[in-house]
Amino acid sequence: MGIVVQKFGGTSVADAVKIRKAAQRAIDAAKKGNNVVVVASARGKQTDHLIADAMELNSNPPRREMDQLLSTGEQQTVSLMAIAMHGMGQKAVSMTGGQIGMRTDSVFSKARIQSIDAKKIHAEFDKGNIVIVAGFQGIDENGNTTTLGRGGSDTSAVALAAALKADVCEIYTDVDGIYTADPRVYKKAIKMKQISYDEILELASLGAGVMHGRSIEFGKKYDVTIHVRSSLVDIEGTLITHEVPQMEGILVSGATSQKNLAKIGLIGVENTPGTAAKIFAHLAGAKVSVNDIIQTEVSKEKANLSFTVGNSDLLDAKTAIEELKSSIKYDKIFIREDIAEISVVGVGMRSHYGVANKMFDALAKAKVNIDSITTSEIRISCIVDEDQAETALIAVCDAFELDKPAEKRSK
Ligand code: ASP
Ligand code: MG
Repeated sequence: MGIVVQKFGGTSVADAVKIRKAAQRAIDAAKKGNNVVVVASARGKQTDHLIADAMELNSNPPRREMDQLLSTGEQQTVSLMAIAMHGMGQKAVSMTGGQIGMRTDSVFSKARIQSIDAKKIHAEFDKGNIVIVAGFQGIDENGNTTTLGRGGSDTSAVALAAALKADVCEIYTDVDGIYTADPRVYKKAIKMKQISYDEILELASLGAGVMHGRSIEFGKKYDVTIHVRSSLVDIEGTLITHEVPQMEGILVSGATSQKNLAKIGLIGVENTPGTAAKIFAHLAGAKVSVNDIIQTEVSKEKANLSFTVGNSDLLDAKTAIEELKSSIKYDKIFIREDIAEISVVGVGMRSHYGVANKMFDALAKAKVNIDSITTSEIRISCIVDEDQAETALIAVCDAFELDKPAEKRSK
């Protein structure tokens, strides 16, 4: 007998029909002899509605009260799901984050999980219950309700799977798995059978929007097999696992295009020890989250420095740089908002050459100009003009044959 954690996102529990369908999946897994934990998100757009309700009353609501409020969205879902299961003849019990002992720190709205009391869940298994846990929430040492950040139910589910040493953490969603690229742009994209934690972490940070980034970090740390699959149709989705040897043979697993970006460049910035430290300390102080940084020396005295930020951080970044005017010398500042970042990701890059040139060649053939390039061990990213983002992504996907299953690509 195994332990299965099943997480249902907001769209998969949006109404009574869907809640019943989700409940049936959990019941089926229990009938196969498994102990089952269901983790559920708030129904549909409930979290957004609750935020709107709060904003109508106070545009700067206390964070503690927001967590107290937002946690109720998930609590509605789990009790409704338990009610549904009882109606379907299945023993089930719903629990809040606090009730299952999901202990977090006290950073409201982005709390981090510290520990989970697996004994409470085992006690419910012993009574024959499916345990339905409210995702996205926990409790701090003073008994305050906390939340884990938007999309945090994924992290609740993977953390529970880790604590229970579950066989699998199934993430049920409205897509049937993870695709080699966004199928809305690259129509020929196909579903991946398997992908590594490291690759999905790169893809998530690049805006692929598949899962809450921290849930993958949890999965990697505690070795939880994650299965992203459809709540509508009963087909295999995509497995997120540790790297396995055959992944090395795949040059590129996926490609992304990210648009909501801006690039800030400082031309001719003084080339002395401590300049970059000062700039990025100041940006960090302004809570600007910086993506790719490029610096090159142009002479003994001067360097060019540029970095990208999300559009939502651009204003803060601009202000922060302006504040440095008196303490840091530079010739010119330029800002580009009309950019997109095209990236390819694959653990196979570690052991193969020629990936970068294949990407650049594909962009050249598609007449896409590359503004700048950054790389990590398993990723290559090019900044291109925003209005060429689609052309660029399609060209790169075609070059790496992301329309074919990994084993059928010519390499
Ligand atoms: N309900 C929360 C949100 O909308 C958490 C989640 O869905 O994972 O962000
Ligand atoms: Mg989600």
